[in-house]
Amino acid sequence: MNNILNYINGSVKSHSKDFIEVYDPSNGEVISKVVMSNKDDFNDAIISAKNSQIDWQNTTPLKRSRILSNYKNLIEENIDVLAKLVSKEHGKTLDDAKGSVVRGLEVVEFACGIPSLLKGEFSQNVGTNIDSWSIRQPLGICAGVTPFNFPAMVPMWMFPIAIACGNSFILKPSEKDPSCSIKLAELFTKAGLPDGVMNVLQGDKFVVDLILQDKDISAVSFVGSTPVAKYIYEESAKNLKRVQALGGAKNHLVVMPDANIKQAVDGIMGAAYGSAGERCMAVSVAVAVGDIADDLVDKICIEAQKLKVAPWTDNDSDMGPVISKEHKNKIENYISKGIEEGAKIILDGRNYNLQGYENGYFVGPTLFDNVTKEMVIYKEEIFGPVLSVIRAKNYDEALKLVNDHAFGNGTSIYTSDGEVSRHFTTNAKIGMVGVNVPIPVPMAFHSFGGWKQSLFGDHSMHGNEGIHFYTKLKTITSRWPKSIQDGPEFIMPTN
Ligand code: NAD
Repeated sequence: MNNILNYINGSVKSHSKDFIEVYDPSNGEVISKVVMSNKDDFNDAIISAKNSQIDWQNTTPLKRSRILSNYKNLIEENIDVLAKLVSKEHGKTLDDAKGSVVRGLEVVEFACGIPSLLKGEFSQNVGTNIDSWSIRQPLGICAGVTPFNFPAMVPMWMFPIAIACGNSFILKPSEKDPSCSIKLAELFTKAGLPDGVMNVLQGDKFVVDLILQDKDISAVSFVGSTPVAKYIYEESAKNLKRVQALGGAKNHLVVMPDANIKQAVDGIMGAAYGSAGERCMAVSVAVAVGDIADDLVDKICIEAQKLKVAPWTDNDSDMGPVISKEHKNKIENYISKGIEEGAKIILDGRNYNLQGYENGYFVGPTLFDNVTKEMVIYKEEIFGPVLSVIRAKNYDEALKLVNDHAFGNGTSIYTSDGEVSRHFTTNAKIGMVGVNVPIPVPMAFHSFGGWKQSLFGDHSMHGNEGIHFYTKLKTITSRWPKSIQDGPEFIMPTN
């Protein structure tokens, strides 16, 4: 059995002898064990990150960029290996896993521009013979704590930019699919990154708490569920750390009566059921506006029944299993709750039986109609292949639903009316908004982040927000001796 360890100071190791099992979600079998790091492992990671950081900070941005460029090439060469590691432990289809690695790779490409991205501002003669400029300097040691659903992409939202900015990094990946993080770190070393700049520390809450309390760690990036995001935000603030904590979601896709219904249904299919609904940008609510509702529900139902639910090893699979037995039970309980609450079940994915994979964690595509805003299945994040259709009389009612929801990650509108679309993009209280696109995930050179209960902190991930999060601003004001007037001054200088 393969034991997955830490990656510290350029080598794979661990002190702890405590391991938990990692499963293949398609058949429920144990495929490896991952170490639960202890205090000694944590201390090793801190020493390694601390010892390497100053030299790394003093490495010119151009040299850092060249290492990132090598890293980009290595990820491209290893994309199949990385995607397989993701699919094997997560269960998502191979093409979907590849797509997620590419979205991470794009952040590396963005970070290759670090010499330009770190350029500061300069003003000549802010006072007579006085110049002033601003620069961005690294924070020191940064840490990232990441969720199970994107074991490559989400860590890659963080560490390429943190490291490009001159920080060292400690990644605490999800214990449910930990292998990919080690491969990502090994490839970075191969690309020329000095030992100790990138470290991977496996574990659970125990090691996350050590990260939150440690005085040498300056900033924490978190992506995961909202209750944990809140905890990370509060604890980081208590320990005076910079923090960005991204949480859960309940993304609404509004379908207007004038929408191209085929495009809307196609969009909903991938967004609701792709990756078995285990995406923070998954569409879990379709808001059917006016008289389009019956047609929309019928068409979603027809298309959802055509989806092929199968393990990642089947090239024709549209969606795989969910991550664990516990999560499958949780999703099925939500489906039962929806029925109890009076929502109309159109497709029921409970007790999904896939021949040859009876012990896998499969849930079939599930569709509810006539969901109301009081229902638990509407209020809470289910994080599975469950789509709720809620009917709204008109656009105003649809927008109010979007804005009144506690989560604010993503939303989208399907319409052929430019005025409605403009009103929606302006007035939706949501971090990422789409028009006639189902999942409006920003590219690496823009920034990713929600509002309300979907993000705690001031910065989104990657893009310029990432550069700002992983650096602190310094402003310098200078004049040279010959221009200095004689004697002290006791009044505020003005020009
Ligand atoms: P999770 O919150 O259970 O775990 C996330 C990370 O936190 C893991 O590394 C885990 O080990 C650690 N952790 C778990 N409980 C902890 C605790 N009590 N104290 C400290 N650390 C703890 O999330 P998950 O189940 O791995 O991922 C799914 C969730 O992530 C969903 O809610 C999804 O919406 C969210 N997510 C959000 C985004 C986004 O960008 N907003 C992106 C991806 C996933």
